[in-house]
Amino acid sequence: MRIALVSEHASPLATLGGVDAGGQNVHVAALATALGARGHVVDVYTRRDDPDLPDRVPFAPNVTVVPVPAGPAAPVPKDELLPLMGEFADFLAATWTADRPDVVHGHFWMSGLAALDAAERVDLALGGHLPVAQTFHALGVVKRRQQGTKDTSPAERAFLEPGVARRADLVVATCSDEAFELKAFGVPSSRIAVVPCGVDTAHFTPTGPVAPRTDRVRLLTVSRLVPRKGVGNAIEALGLLVRAGVDAELVVVGGAGDADHLETEPETERLRRVIEAEGLQDRVVLAGRKGHDELPAWYRSADVVVCAPWYEPFGIVPLEAMACGRPVIATGVGGLIDTVVEDVTGLHVPARDPEAIAEAVTTMLADPELRRRYGDAGRARATSRYTWRRIAADTTRVYERLAARNQVRLMTGER
Ligand code: UDP
Repeated sequence: MRIALVSEHASPLATLGGVDAGGQNVHVAALATALGARGHVVDVYTRRDDPDLPDRVPFAPNVTVVPVPAGPAAPVPKDELLPLMGEFADFLAATWTADRPDVVHGHFWMSGLAALDAAERVDLALGGHLPVAQTFHALGVVKRRQQGTKDTSPAERAFLEPGVARRADLVVATCSDEAFELKAFGVPSSRIAVVPCGVDTAHFTPTGPVAPRTDRVRLLTVSRLVPRKGVGNAIEALGLLVRAGVDAELVVVGGAGDADHLETEPETERLRRVIEAEGLQDRVVLAGRKGHDELPAWYRSADVVVCAPWYEPFGIVPLEAMACGRPVIATGVGGLIDTVVEDVTGLHVPARDPEAIAEAVTTMLADPELRRRYGDAGRARATSRYTWRRIAADTTRVYERLAARNQVRLMTGER
């Protein structure tokens, strides 16, 4: 198949860990690579944020990144991209009319908007129907519910996003929690498929180099430094543990810069205040952004990985920790409900609840055998269910389903 992936802000070429570069970049890059490895030809359309990029950037076997001219060829925050989507769609429509792909897959709501608009124009120009699958990665309705007025998404998202869900030929949800949200938008079950994100189980492994560590019990969080990731709650949990006599530390991997240049993000300042208030200056390490290549060593250095988001559309970090054979404490939200299995690969805790995190850590620290069992089960679960090879196979089935439905549509004249 010839597949067009559209990912307006999350480029496979981006550096991870900054405010707007996280799981979606990993997802799009890995899915494209795995689809390419299956012999499909994949073009990834992402907004041009660098004037020096060529028109087509080879990324992996059979995979090319196409920088789309839309707005300034410079970084633009994702919440300011909506006005540029018309220009983005014009480029897609012209490219696909000249050379029609078999299927389009939009990632994030604005990509869906541009992809559906462009596909409609291709249909008008060429006849037939160019099917569009859509993965949201995050839903505005959930973000608004969680963040209230702090949500900086454009106001139009509230009605445009459900419109994308209803217009797409098929919505690929990444977890069951999202599928329920989509049904509330009025998307029928027949047009929803659940295919999770994956993890590179050859890169994230239990054995290999280990980041330097002390004799202290090490808790680890890996995340962008934004409030909803709950890093503050993990720090508060550490405070409770230390006051209870546990000799523990928390390493926080993530942020817009390296360890010496973290002050650009407001959340870093807030976290520093929490650390100070808890008196944990010598026990919390703000390690800054680490390259994806360095991350397995950090996971391996941890006794327990804490994932404490207030909400999480999917959450690749717990899967990476599981693939590295680490026990995970995860809030029972979004994709973490599906990936982390209670008392099998780790423990679930309620969101925004430092006491519950501290209690779960205490349970795990009391029993090294339990930690080993959770870690082993995590690795087994990651390798059996979440390899990108399997995710690409499942996604291909979704595309085939779309193509087959399109055949029926063409035969019956159904719109
Ligand atoms: N990540 C990274 N370096 C960092 C922090 C994060 O490579 O310093 C990666 C992390 O390994 C994971 C991704 O960024 O692959 C975060 O994905 P997740 O779905 O957990 O969260 P998101 O950032 O998408 O909300």
